[in-house]
Amino acid sequence: MSDIDSLEDYRTKRDFNFTPEPFGVQTVPSGKPRFVIQKHAASTLHYDLRLEVEGVLKSWAIPKGPSTDPRQKRLAIPTEDHPLDYIDFEGIIPKGAYGAGTVLVWDTGTYENINEKDGETISMAQAIRNGNVKFSLNGKKIKQGFALVRTNKASNNRWLLIKMNDEGVNINQDIVTTEPQSVLSGRTLEEITDKKKI
Ligand code: MN
Repeated sequence: MSDIDSLEDYRTKRDFNFTPEPFGVQTVPSGKPRFVIQKHAASTLHYDLRLEVEGVLKSWAIPKGPSTDPRQKRLAIPTEDHPLDYIDFEGIIPKGAYGAGTVLVWDTGTYENINEKDGETISMAQAIRNGNVKFSLNGKKIKQGFALVRTNKASNNRWLLIKMNDEGVNINQDIVTTEPQSVLSGRTLEEITDKKKI
């Protein structure tokens, strides 16, 4: 897979005359790598975890969203790379468009690559190829270590997102339920969806 045209899949799926999503012009990384978790009320509600890696957002769809409880392993399905400027996309993808539905920026911030072997850092791109990715999030809602682990070597479509055992653990709340709002606008999905009525 070439990194230069890894956005081809993203662009082919979308009609940019029709969707408000970005075509993707920003390709230069901006200091510390960033992440976003978008809540997406498409045909099925899910969360999209995107990690900035080598100029694009590597992406996984997580039906139940992240958990701060290490025992709650969450299914994560790889999806197409997204452009860096998708990181603050919030709004409505119109009916009939690919991924139609409302998108909310549920959490965002920077992350640190904590993949290492024998004292050597493994790049995020390599860790993703290996199917074992560890990163420490510095979001507004969720913090510290998470692992994304591919569960089946023969197939790429089933990974798990698992909270690592550290100070970011909170087993007493289901954070996707207790903190449903956007970290960018403070709005809920319903408030974004209904904005034209206000
Ligand atoms: Mn999605």
